[in-house]
Amino acid sequence: MSKLSRRDFLKLSGAGAAAGTLGFAGIARAQIGPGGPHVVVVGGGFGGATCAKYLRSGNPGITVTLIEPSSQFVTCPFSNYVIGGIRKIESITHSYDSLQKNHGVNVVHDTVTSIDPAKKTLMLKSGKHFKYDRLVLSPGIDFKWGAIEGYSEQASQVMPHAWKAGPQTLLLRKQLEQMKDGGLFVMVAPPNPFRCPPGPYERASMVAHYLKANKPRSKVIILDPKDKFSKQGLFMAGWKELYGDMIEWVPGSKGGKVKSVNAKTMTVDAELEKYKASVVNVIPPQTAGQIALKTGLADEKGWCPVNPKTFESTKLPGIHVIGDASIAGALPKSGFAANSEGKICAAAIVSSLRGEEIADASYVNTCYSLVSPNYGISVAGVYRVTEKGIVQIEGGVSPKDASAGFRADEAKYAFGWYASITADTWG
Ligand SMILES: Cc1cc2nc3c(=O)[nH]c(=O)nc-3n(C[C@H](O)[C@H](O)[C@H](O)COP(=O)(O)OP(=O)(O)OC[C@H]3O[C@@H](n4cnc5c(N)ncnc54)[C@H](O)[C@@H]3O)c2cc1C
Repeated sequence: MSKLSRRDFLKLSGAGAAAGTLGFAGIARAQIGPGGPHVVVVGGGFGGATCAKYLRSGNPGITVTLIEPSSQFVTCPFSNYVIGGIRKIESITHSYDSLQKNHGVNVVHDTVTSIDPAKKTLMLKSGKHFKYDRLVLSPGIDFKWGAIEGYSEQASQVMPHAWKAGPQTLLLRKQLEQMKDGGLFVMVAPPNPFRCPPGPYERASMVAHYLKANKPRSKVIILDPKDKFSKQGLFMAGWKELYGDMIEWVPGSKGGKVKSVNAKTMTVDAELEKYKASVVNVIPPQTAGQIALKTGLADEKGWCPVNPKTFESTKLPGIHVIGDASIAGALPKSGFAANSEGKICAAAIVSSLRGEEIADASYVNTCYSLVSPNYGISVAGVYRVTEKGIVQIEGGVSPKDASAGFRADEAKYAFGWYASITADTWG
């Protein structure tokens, strides 16, 4: 594999003018790296960590800096199992050591506070700044605080969202443990589009699994602004079979839309009814991560339009946006998709830095959900780039009338999937 010198890169990108910016005040040459171009990746989650690793394996001549505030990453996938009590948080926590030691990624634990696309510079919370030749953003999601009256960041300390894994996951688990038998667990589900389409319904399953064993007189109500959801038939059949009437789903057309919540009285005001609950899990409406919005990468709905072949922003060329923050056509906002996009984006950057043609991309996604520890269901898809953007060309869900053995096997595959995707991303 040929190494790419910084001079080659500048020639290929026709960036004669960029040469003048190399001495940009305050940016140490050492930060850029001695040889090849410098690609900075923002966000060390599924999209960003994968992209950083595959950029380095695609061409070790590229200097890759990954900027991520947390020293360890707690995955949202399997965080529902921590809430349900079948996994410990330590088992879903991953370090950045291998990216640094085995793959030569320069990992910097800091937060990007602003980006100057004209000067190709980004500023960090610590006061440091970095210059880049190419930038990849995978900042995940942020919440539309206040979109549900009464739901603020402060209220989320009482009514957790647990839609970013970590302390919020543990808070929801603790509340569930403290709930009395016969109590009411209310989930406020989000409108489309949102991170992990089957996630809320898997969470309801895990909550019911815990309650059935420990507080069997309790009830789970899902208040949903939508009228349908991912793997709906499979989830609802599984709920009936495993939990009887414990889980009730209220769709938008039957009063599921929530107008307001009150964290002091623990009440949820839906269109037709008011609920007083022991535990309230509000998953608010979402947007791309704040840094993408602030940089001007998002459209009016709060998500980032990209070229489906390269994930380069259609708003700010030279910046790629991958993962949940991007608008990726038919691809769901999932860890699997973000990992896939990280690889495609890395390959596209490596090819473009070498002046080679960018290959046609295809994407895959499989999403397993546990209805109980021995009862797994899945949805899978293969996607291609067409003139209409990214479209699904193949796919399907688990069979409706599968045997108990089949469901148990799918649950095992879920654990296998988790082990392999996390090794591929951070290993
Ligand atoms: C409960 C739940 C269950 C899920 N289960 C599954 C599943 O089974 N399978 C699946 O495929 N997906 C699942 N998902 C979805 C998956 O978690 C996301 O789709 C995936 O994390 C998206 O990757 P990302 O890189 O876009 O964002 P993330 O993985 O969230 O990474 C974003 C990173 O960017 C960092 N960041 C943000 N802003 C800045 C900044 N300004 N400076 C520096 N760093 C910044 C953050 O700290 C974060 O580490 C689940 C999600 C939830 C909530």
